[in-house]
Amino acid sequence: MLRRLKLVNDVRRFSTVIRDTLEYDVLIVGGGPAGLSAAIRLKQLCQQQERDISVCLIEKGSYVGAHILSGNVFEPIALNELIPDWQKIEDFPIETKVTEDVVKILTSPTKSFTIPKIFMPKSIDNHGNYIISLGQLSQWLGKHAEELGVDLITGIAGD
Ligand SMILES: Cc1cc2nc3c(=O)[nH]c(=O)nc-3n(C[C@H](O)[C@H](O)[C@H](O)COP(=O)(O)OP(=O)(O)OC[C@H]3O[C@@H](n4cnc5c(N)ncnc54)[C@H](O)[C@@H]3O)c2cc1C
Repeated sequence: MLRRLKLVNDVRRFSTVIRDTLEYDVLIVGGGPAGLSAAIRLKQLCQQQERDISVCLIEKGSYVGAHILSGNVFEPIALNELIPDWQKIEDFPIETKVTEDVVKILTSPTKSFTIPKIFMPKSIDNHGNYIISLGQLSQWLGKHAEELGVDLITGIAGD
């Protein structure tokens, strides 16, 4: 028993010795819209203030966007603030604008009843919004973050 414990301790000590360490000023866990926006904003502030801090973002998916729920109605207010000229940047994945909101109550497998527009709550008004893949948006934000100098490390879960 004691010998086994000693072996476990030796292995632990050994694994501590060979473990790689990367040092960063900021570590962000999760490559969703929130983590990526935080990383981008930090690097933008660095550029504005002419200083640098190292930022690393780890994502448990095999690539940024892999674990993101995709279908999404997207209100671009926050993106307009973060990257004001996003529409002009190449490869941007947002294309489909919402043109009409319709709410239907399904009454049978083949029939439905459309709720008149005057009864629709304001929260269902999506004019000016977009229909996007949040996974694709995250991939694009990831590319943008990397261009600003953020180190993206995928396939690693923060513990
Ligand atoms: C069914 C559904 C429909 C939705 N529809 C809409 C919609 O139409 N419009 C809208 O605006 N919002 C919608 N939302 C909400 C929207 O998806 C979230 O607000 C948004 O994804 C939150 O972004 P986030 O970056 O905080 O988290 P997430 O998008 O959840 O991203 C978190 C990221 O962190 C990673 N991660 C988690 N834990 C770890 C870890 N320990 N280590 C490393 N990586 C980790 C995950 O893999 C993921 O990539 C919907 C949500 C759901 C569930």
